[in-house]
Formats: sequence, C-alpha cells, structure tokens
Amino acid sequence: MKDKYDVIIIGCGMGGLGSGIMLQTENSDLKTIIFEQHNIPGGYVTGFKRKGYYFDGGAEGITSVGENGLVKKALTELGIDYEFIPIEPLDVYYFDDKKFNFYLDKEKLIKEVKRVFPKHLDGFKEFLAECDRIFQEISSGNKIPEYDNLCYLDLIGKFVPNDYIKDVFNLFCLWYGAKPSEMPGVFGAMVTRSVMNGGVYYPKGGMQEFSNMLRDTYTSRGGEVVFSTMAKKILIEDNKVIGVELENGKRIKCDWLISNADIKRTILEYSGEKYFPKEYVDFIKNLKLTPSGFMLHLGVEMDLSNYPSHFQIGKDYAILEKTSKGQFKLSKLAVRIPANIDPDLKNGDNYSIVAFMFAPYDWKDYWLAGPEKDRGIKYKEYKEQVADEVISIIEKVILGLREKIAVKELATPLTFERYLQVTEGAWFGSHKFQKLPDSETPIDNLLLVGASVRGSGAPSALNHGFTVGDELAKKIS
Ligand SMILES: Cc1cc2nc3c(=O)[nH]c(=O)nc-3n(C[C@H](O)[C@H](O)[C@H](O)COP(=O)(O)OP(=O)(O)OC[C@H]3O[C@@H](n4cnc5c(N)ncnc54)[C@H](O)[C@@H]3O)c2cc1C
Repeated sequence: MKDKYDVIIIGCGMGGLGSGIMLQTENSDLKTIIFEQHNIPGGYVTGFKRKGYYFDGGAEGITSVGENGLVKKALTELGIDYEFIPIEPLDVYYFDDKKFNFYLDKEKLIKEVKRVFPKHLDGFKEFLAECDRIFQEISSGNKIPEYDNLCYLDLIGKFVPNDYIKDVFNLFCLWYGAKPSEMPGVFGAMVTRSVMNGGVYYPKGGMQEFSNMLRDTYTSRGGEVVFSTMAKKILIEDNKVIGVELENGKRIKCDWLISNADIKRTILEYSGEKYFPKEYVDFIKNLKLTPSGFMLHLGVEMDLSNYPSHFQIGKDYAILEKTSKGQFKLSKLAVRIPANIDPDLKNGDNYSIVAFMFAPYDWKDYWLAGPEKDRGIKYKEYKEQVADEVISIIEKVILGLREKIAVKELATPLTFERYLQVTEGAWFGSHKFQKLPDSETPIDNLLLVGASVRGSGAPSALNHGFTVGDELAKKIS
C-alpha cells in the first residue's frame, strides 16, 4: 500500500468495482485503491459456502446483461466476457390453489394467462400492448399525461382487475423496494417492457463468482484492493478531500475519493456534518431508504432438481405497505434454488435453498436484540423461530424438507446492516422515487456511487460506477 493515490474508493460493491475498473481501463497509469471492510468483493452481489453448500447472500438475478442490455454493452466495451444464464420462467407462483409460471417469453406468458386466468386474457394482452405503447412514446421523448397520477398496480388493474396477476407483476415494485402506490404507472410499464424484452439472468458460477471476476479485472488492470479494512474517516481540508483514515488509524492521502459506502454514513459519519451546508445535511438525513428483510439459507440432503430455480409462495401485493407500517407476517416468500439454473452449484447430489422477503428493521425491538442490538440468546432463539416458520411455508411446495436440512442460517436486517455497514440494512439503497443526490457532493473531489445514490439493484449500481469512473478518468487526464 502506498501513502498516496490518485483515487481512493471506499467499498468493493458493484458501484466501487465499476468505477475502479473504468478508471484503470481508461488510464492504466492511475494509482487507485479500493478499501473494503468485508473479506470478499461484491457487497450485496455476494455468496458464501457452508459445509460445501453454496448460497447467494443478496442479489439472485440481474437485468441488463442480455444481448442489447446496457450493462452487457458496457462489459463488452471493457473487454469483459462473462456467461449469464437466462432465468425462464422468471418466477413460478404457488398460490393456494393455483400455480402460475411468469414466463418472459411473451407467447408463453399469454398461453399461461389463458390457462390459469382465461377470463383476463384479453385485458392482459391489452396491458402488454399498452406497456409497448408507453415504451415507444417515452423512448421518442413524448409524455403520457393521462397516466400522471396512476401508480403501476392501478395501471395493471385498469386492464386486468385480478389480485393474482397484480401480485405477479408487483414483483417489479419489490425489485425497487417500493410500495405499489409508490411506483409510477409509466415507470412500471417501462420496466415491464424492458424486462420482458431484455430478460433476467444468473451469472454462471453464482453471484460471488461474478464479483470475483470484476475484482480480478480491476486488479489485472493495475488497481489495488485491500479487504477487511474499514475506512473510518474521510479527511477534508479547505472544503476538499485529502484522504482517508483507516480503522487502524493509518492515514492514506488521495486527490479524489469515491464512496460506494452507504450514503448516510459517508456524509454524516465518515466525513462529518460540519463540512457540509445545512440544507445538504438535512437532505441526506431525510433521504428515504428501501426496506430490509430476512433471508434463510438452507443446505438440504435432497434432490431438488424437479423444482423451479426461482419461485414464490403466497399472495400479498401489499407486503411493502405492511412493512412500512412496521408489520411483519409471513404471507409471501421468495425461494431460490441456484443449482437448478447452474447445476455446478450442487453440493454433490445435494441442493441449497435461499428464501427471503422484506421485513421491518425494527420489528419486535430489533428482532429481540433490543436497542443495543445485542445479538444474544433472545435474538438467536427468535431467529430459530422465524427460520422454523419459513421452513413450514417452503414445505407447502417441497414436501419432507425439514428432516433433510444439513445447514440452516437466518440473516435478519441486523445481519445485513452489520455485514455491509448499510444503514438499517436497506436492500436496494435509497428509495428510487424521490429526489436523489448527485454523484458530486458539496466537498471538492468527493464523489458518491452505487445504489445509495441511484436507488435499485445491482446493474444500476454497476452502471453508475462505470459512468462515475468514466467521467473522473476524463477529468483527471
Ligand atoms: C436480499 C437481496 C436481494 C437482492 N436481489 C437483487 C436482485 O435480484 N437483482 C438486483 O439487481 N439487485 C438485487 N439486490 C440489490 C443489489 O444487490 C444492490 O442494490 C446492489 O448490489 C448495491 O450495490 P452497491 O455497490 O451500491 O452497494 P453494496 O453492495 O452495499 O456495496 C458497498 C460495499 O461497500 C463496503 N463498505 C461499506 N462501508 C465501508 C467502509 N466504511 N469501509 C470499507 N468498505 C465499506 C461494503 O462492505 C460493501 O461491500 C438485492 C439485495 C438484497 C439484499
């Protein structure tokens, strides 16, 4: 490690990796370094192994990496070739008495609606046609004033007044951590059209493998990464960034600093409120974050090859309304079996399962950990109880699961907060549908990158990293 760098990046998530790769690719003479407090790259695009079972720790599908996807194009331009496996059907919905395959292939999806909800076939076709029309209009720079005050679920309801179909398409609201009432209809229609045309993919080898590849790309182009090293302070002098102070007290200087860390911590804690104008501090304090949730990892001594790789159990399109009111009831669950999309992720003949859903950060006095977040016996016992309830729900689809469990680990919002240093364990950074901050800050040479700034998922954070890295590389040269 040197005493001074051209650019220091805090955080080796998608945002940090994207900016680092772009900087080193555009100017290999640059001296850049990433400090990551965790011991692996990727942030929420991560994975881990227990007793030979592989588990994704956050993201479980990526958009924009299909043939014409923005991220795919950027990766190709950067000389990165990576295999992505299409997820089709995108999700399989197990409702009480129905099973519905959410295909992205339009013909297959229409056939599926005809099979399960024949009464709504015509309305459904009209809904898809309307999404196409909205996409064309917006792409041509036109506005659609008739939908100004319509949220996405109401737009669907206008064509398809059916709670099951609303629940299926509410998936896109969940991807943004947004309540149905919060996602504008036009935005939702654009997402529907883009996802159905562009697809959703799983990186070959799992999420961690993808992040490892990005780290290797960065280091092979001259970047340095230091893991298990927390940046504790951003050093500022005369309204300009001058470096960071690490956990061990060591100070490293830099000309520029890009923070991929949580935005509230970056501004209010690592930098310090006193360096910013009051309006900016208030703006950051008032930024609304996306909700957190729980995630259960199960390694099972079973052959699960007959189940879908991605499925959902239960119907509750108001789940985020409830979460935002501090309520938590296991009404709906997303379940993933990664080896059914990439068989190399099997553990011999055995399979891993990841099940998750949104849940309030402060549920039951912080999941019985109390205000001091003491992850002692009460917290552990409560985690066991929640894991037990989640397993009972999965057993509605996978019979006999409980007896075959070899690994069981439950992550709560407190786990996400601790592992990623993310305020309240927010899953998708800042809430997308509000005024979001710029990458530039009132402090000279301090830039922000990632989901904290852009809102939403992994491709958006990675793309933002590419953009910020590109602009900075041009500025420096
Ligand atoms: C359960 C779950 C499911 C999801 N599913 C999807 C999905 O299917 N598709 C999708 O696209 N997105 C999904 N997401 C969201 C997506 O993963 C994130 O929005 C995205 O990866 C965020 O990237 P980022 O780089 O902005 O931030 P992060 O991933 O949070 O990375 C920030 C990095 O900074 C590090 N860091 C923080 N503070 C410091 C510090 N002080 N010093 C050093 N390092 C620090 C952290 O350890 C972390 O590695 C999901 C998220 C979760 C939690």
